[in-house]
Amino acid sequence: MLPCLHPGVEAQPDYVQQRRGMVAEVRAMVRDTSTYTKMQRLAAPVLVAIDSVPRHEFVPQRLWGVAYENRPLPIGEGQTISQPYVVALMTDIALVDANSVVLEVGTGSGYQGAVLAEIAQHVYSIEIIESLGRRAASTLARLDYENVTVRIGDGYHGWPEKAPFDVIVVTAAPDQIPQPLIDQLKPGGRLVIPVGSQLGSQVLRVLNKDDQGRISIQDVLPVGFVPFTRAR
Ligand code: SAH
Repeated sequence: MLPCLHPGVEAQPDYVQQRRGMVAEVRAMVRDTSTYTKMQRLAAPVLVAIDSVPRHEFVPQRLWGVAYENRPLPIGEGQTISQPYVVALMTDIALVDANSVVLEVGTGSGYQGAVLAEIAQHVYSIEIIESLGRRAASTLARLDYENVTVRIGDGYHGWPEKAPFDVIVVTAAPDQIPQPLIDQLKPGGRLVIPVGSQLGSQVLRVLNKDDQGRISIQDVLPVGFVPFTRAR
């Protein structure tokens, strides 16, 4: 067959190049916010992960052109895919490694789950809105993320059958940290969660459970997440 060279047909956008630009912006923002976060740079595996996940696949096609901008985007049902900087920061402070079994509450688009799955052994992710959970599960399957399992439900209760977890990441903001999630964290584990119902007063917290089961909590950064909702 002859090559089809229509002058009007645009070449496929260079998403690899765009992603590299996004990673550079995220790194710059990590430096700019280090006074708050006390974090100077992202760990190498986190950089590799955000450089690897095709974020455009997780947003509606009409937004593919802006998929690599460092900002949240709408994904339907009034929900958003988080800003890449926030995804990277949460993945970094969660200290995920190749042995980690992770629980994510708030699958949304599946993007944060994919970033976690680039590093972790397995990610269990719960989404309360059925249509979003189904779409995320099919996106993740299409992209061969075999180590992510999505379930529809209220993440307040965690996932008792798969507990305990090395790491728990919550991507919607409740008023208080749900006790079942603290209970399902392994000794030596970390829970990363935005807390606060008012958009202007949310804070990203990291809860550590030490080997004796003692809890300590640190505030990391003011943030703006969608609300944590409850099943009726
Ligand atoms: N991590 C997602 C961010 C999605 S926004 C991403 O990378 O795209 C947060 C998501 O949390 C929304 O989809 C919302 O429906 C979901 N959510 C809110 N409350 C929840 C709950 N109690 N259990 C499970 N998911 C919840």
